[in-house]
Amino acid sequence: MSPSGGPPPLRRLVIPGLFVAGLFAISFFRQGPNTAVTSELAITGPTMGTTFNVKVVTNDLTEANRERLTLLVRAALDGVDEHMSTYRPDSEIEQFNRGDTEPFAASQDLLVVVAEAQRVARLTGGAFDITVGPLVDIWGFGPPGATEAPDEDTLQELVAVTGFEQLEVDVEGGALRKARADCRIDLSAIAKGFGADQVSAALTRQGLPNHMVEVGGEVRARGFNESEQVWRIGIERPISAGRSVQFIVPLADRSLATSGDYRNFVERDGVRISHTIDPRTGRPISHNLASVSVMHASCMTADGLATALSVLGVDEGFELAERQGIPAYFLVRVADDEFEERQTSVWTSLIENSSSVGTVDEVR
Ligand code: FAD
Repeated sequence: MSPSGGPPPLRRLVIPGLFVAGLFAISFFRQGPNTAVTSELAITGPTMGTTFNVKVVTNDLTEANRERLTLLVRAALDGVDEHMSTYRPDSEIEQFNRGDTEPFAASQDLLVVVAEAQRVARLTGGAFDITVGPLVDIWGFGPPGATEAPDEDTLQELVAVTGFEQLEVDVEGGALRKARADCRIDLSAIAKGFGADQVSAALTRQGLPNHMVEVGGEVRARGFNESEQVWRIGIERPISAGRSVQFIVPLADRSLATSGDYRNFVERDGVRISHTIDPRTGRPISHNLASVSVMHASCMTADGLATALSVLGVDEGFELAERQGIPAYFLVRVADDEFEERQTSVWTSLIENSSSVGTVDEVR
């Protein structure tokens, strides 16, 4: 921890809005025969220490409808925050984190997200690990904020506390259990995606199946945009200064999540430290993988997988994604602001198939 008094030992870079987490820009292309149709309602605001951006295709563009939908979106996101924020002591997850090794009666939402996190952890050999909370904090990326670099002994003590195997999820029995009382969980790498899924489900229940939901850079798209085209989402070029689009993804009823370190990092003695932790070493990742984007039906799953592949790095991550049939797009830094692309075969075929999806009439 930083000593009291004296200058802060590191600088945390926080970029607002779309830049915080998602490493992407959104690009809505109006093309095709129906460009005259304009019926998208945009709803934006702050959530989970970042922002959300929702577009809903509707014929009711009245202020009353906007207010109604804003309340709906907010309720879905606030629910996730209340259950899964490590930034508020009253959240459900923080109650679990403070608790002992007795079974903890958890909400269905928390159980669903933790169960999926554990599945991604097993799939990736523990590269994804929601018990990294204490390591995230010690490296200065958690709620306590900036810290000094931990010494080796402290690091090893914390590595001993972490490990996804220490967590048991009993979805049917409605309980979570940890093997050690000091085990803490952190859902920052998966719960924003779950939030996007929740908003999308709420809009669909309202009879609004055409929408795009982005939460802190993770996107879930459903149906078509106002021009009756599939939503097109831009993956940002991973440079920390300025912004530009590297790749445009036609997103047909899918989600897209991106993980990378060029926006969210701390600088210590002039060296960039990533907020993604390799649970095997307890240290922030450091390799030449600039960003990884993953497509999946579920935004929660895409979110978790993107972080996991980011931990594994380009060789191991790409090999695993190819073997598991994960649609993934890697940007590898080869020189300053120069990148090489690698896409898994299922990514390439999904892009080709989605690109051929045109107007509503063509796909029905
Ligand atoms: P991602 O790649 O999606 O996730 C990286 C984060 O995941 C790390 O910061 C770390 O927390 C965790 N992580 C690191 N390594 C691993 C690993 N190997 N396996 C699994 N997880 C790992 N931030 C605030 O500043 N204020 C808030 O009030 C706030 N509230 C939040 C509430 C909720 C419900 C959630 C989910 C997050 C909140 N956050 C808040 C955090 C913030 O919004 C981002 O989630 C966080 O900064 C990282 O997101 P990302 O998309 O940049 O990175």
